[in-house]
Amino acid sequence: MIADLVKKYGISPEDAESLNAAMKVVCVNCAVEMKPSAVGVTLCETRSMLGSRGYNAPYLLWNADMLECPKCLRLVITRFAVKPFARSAYCQIHMDEIKNAGGRIYYCNEH
Ligand SMILES: [Zn+2]
Repeated sequence: MIADLVKKYGISPEDAESLNAAMKVVCVNCAVEMKPSAVGVTLCETRSMLGSRGYNAPYLLWNADMLECPKCLRLVITRFAVKPFARSAYCQIHMDEIKNAGGRIYYCNEH
């Protein structure tokens, strides 16, 4: 893992070790590190629309990774890209393309 990060990002082994630690996600219930389940999933962050009760509109689209606990199989989405790849009105176009290609979109709704 450390060697992969050194190669991928062109950073020192020490920086790769810090980056590796920063990317760790631990399942609190099982006390084990969660492992990648899917790399490069699409997450749509929504915002509630004022005046339209219960309606959430796409706001940001992100690439992120899905991790899974190897024991209890809980899933989390984390390791977001530095920037979203679509915003506001442009989200729907990308979401339609992803769905038409058979892809899945995960959501994070404002609450
Ligand atoms: Zn667990």
